[in-house]
Amino acid sequence: MAQEQFAFDTLKVRGGYNPKEHNNASSVPIYQTASYELGDTERVARLFSFSELGYLYTRIGNPTVAVLEQRLAALDGASGALAVASGMAAVTYTLLNLTEGGGRILTTPQLYGGTYDSFKKVYATFGVGIDLVLDPTDLDQFRKAIRPETRAIYVESISNPNAVVADIEALANLAHEYNIPLVVDNTVATPYLFNPLRYGADIVVYSATKALGGHGNAIAGLIVESGKFNWGSGKFPQFLQPHYTLRDAGGKERSILEVFPDAPFTFRVRLNYLAYFGAALSPSDAYLILLGVETLSERVQKQVANTEKIVAYLETQPGVSWVKHPSAKASPYRRLAQKYLTKGAGSLLSFGFNGTSEQLNLFIDSVRLFSYQANIGDAKSLIINSPKTTHGELTAEEQRLADISPETIRLSIGLEDPDDLIRDLQQAFDKALAV
Ligand SMILES: *Cc1c(COP(=O)(O)O)cnc(C)c1O
Repeated sequence: MAQEQFAFDTLKVRGGYNPKEHNNASSVPIYQTASYELGDTERVARLFSFSELGYLYTRIGNPTVAVLEQRLAALDGASGALAVASGMAAVTYTLLNLTEGGGRILTTPQLYGGTYDSFKKVYATFGVGIDLVLDPTDLDQFRKAIRPETRAIYVESISNPNAVVADIEALANLAHEYNIPLVVDNTVATPYLFNPLRYGADIVVYSATKALGGHGNAIAGLIVESGKFNWGSGKFPQFLQPHYTLRDAGGKERSILEVFPDAPFTFRVRLNYLAYFGAALSPSDAYLILLGVETLSERVQKQVANTEKIVAYLETQPGVSWVKHPSAKASPYRRLAQKYLTKGAGSLLSFGFNGTSEQLNLFIDSVRLFSYQANIGDAKSLIINSPKTTHGELTAEEQRLADISPETIRLSIGLEDPDDLIRDLQQAFDKALAV
């Protein structure tokens, strides 16, 4: 199937899969195998010199996982994709692949709590520095913070939990002026609402656990690359160094760029990080994510419609001091959302609870339909008090910088009837505000 000819909704159901190559199975088979028959010694020589690409061991590649990778590559128009065992593995492998041997990441505090925590606690121990731009809308701050050691700009296209919209095109242009890539966490937007590669991003990472899977039943991550970034500028010697493991049939050592010119980034993560750090996605979980992707557009459309109704409802409530979502009347991100998010700005929102912390707790304890969970992007609507949970490891000062005030409540809107969801919030407000 020549995938380029098909539109998004066709690719999300069929991309990356040809039943003729899998005994005509209509549903993608789960290749529940750890290892593969290698055939004969001549084939092994070809496999190990990369003149033939084939499966050796499921930690490094698996046919079910490969369908998921190729489907995401098709949806994002990427030159390469790699699936890993979690969104955190996708973020970490990507950023370590860029900063090996020391380097710095330029980012903002408007990040998923796990990412922010890892920046704080882990990266320094690997010799990697993190620089924060406090105002994500101020391009000048980004420019001033770029140093000779900066190896990437890293942002979330729609941030978790406050739905800050990043100016991807401007950030990509800026990064490229300095020969560094723009890396975008596109988890909240999903490929349906936004394609960062189209606006110049170089690497995109996903937690597929969230809306890509959409059913809260599997942990998974993905990395995709544009294939357009120049890794040969000298800033990233790891792509130019000859590798012992990349010998050709004559024994000559080659570089990643020589062997995998179209998708050097994801191949390098596969060969170095998946192979040795080992966060491989299981084929059964890849299958669950593939099932989710088949209905991505339909789910996200309805979730966006539900979210806009709930935002409009919350804006009228005395129990609410502010609402953060690009569709909110007072959102400073309406203009960026009009440019980048023409199909809607996702199903994640936060609001300020207007009451005491006891009333806030009572509100959370009173909802009946919303599930109290740390997940997002599920078919079921979810609620959480971010400052005490997902962003609970941040100090008070870090929470202030990340704009997570103590009254913050995050909602992830699912596929239920929106009137039922609003009635549920209303009865919880009534209970909480009565005391
Ligand atoms: C959940 C999440 C992650 C981490 O993904 P896991 O699959 O839970 O490891 C990364 N980024 C964002 C924006 C997320 O919401």
